[in-house]
Amino acid sequence: MATIKVLIEGYAKELKNGWIASSTTCIITTEDKKIITDPGCNRQKLLEALREEKLTTDDIDFVFLSHCHPDHILLAGIFEKAKFVTFDSNLIYDKDSLTVFDKNVLGKDIKIIETPGHVLEHLSLLIDTPQGNVAIAGDAIWWVDGETQVVDIHKEDPSQAKGMNMEDLIESRKKLLEISDFIIPGHGKMFKVNKLGRQVQNSR
Ligand SMILES: [Zn+2]
Repeated sequence: MATIKVLIEGYAKELKNGWIASSTTCIITTEDKKIITDPGCNRQKLLEALREEKLTTDDIDFVFLSHCHPDHILLAGIFEKAKFVTFDSNLIYDKDSLTVFDKNVLGKDIKIIETPGHVLEHLSLLIDTPQGNVAIAGDAIWWVDGETQVVDIHKEDPSQAKGMNMEDLIESRKKLLEISDFIIPGHGKMFKVNKLGRQVQNSR
């Protein structure tokens, strides 16, 4: 089984003329791999979080990027030894080489799933952990700072991302809620999925 730890809880604060935002960053540890998800764009926070885990950027084998928005990917390049599972296709990027990946490339406990909607090329991860199935949802599910975290699959996406498709987004959210016990949103707190209703509790 794999273990997962939230290193940085993603945040997104709307300003008059923009946003202050960086994505949720996690580390997944399997028998033989360390995987960083959505390294975000806050360099200081990321380096501090790695230091706390007693890791350097060179210890990371894979970086998973849910989609191509800068608040999720800007720091990807600091992991110089990592291979990249990215937003745009079924390719692994290793420096300038692109190879078609085997679907178990991150280990048998980690599934890479397509979750279009926020943008067309959006991926999520589903991880089999001792606590149950945990989804790293990227921006299929996210909240603005201070918002009450109520899951509503029809909730509008406030980012107004180009290429956003509401029908796809609803389907992706449905899928994530069905297959997960816990969800880690792109911005906001990890939560437990309540299979009986829409209300959810924060996990901590
Ligand atoms: Zn985002």
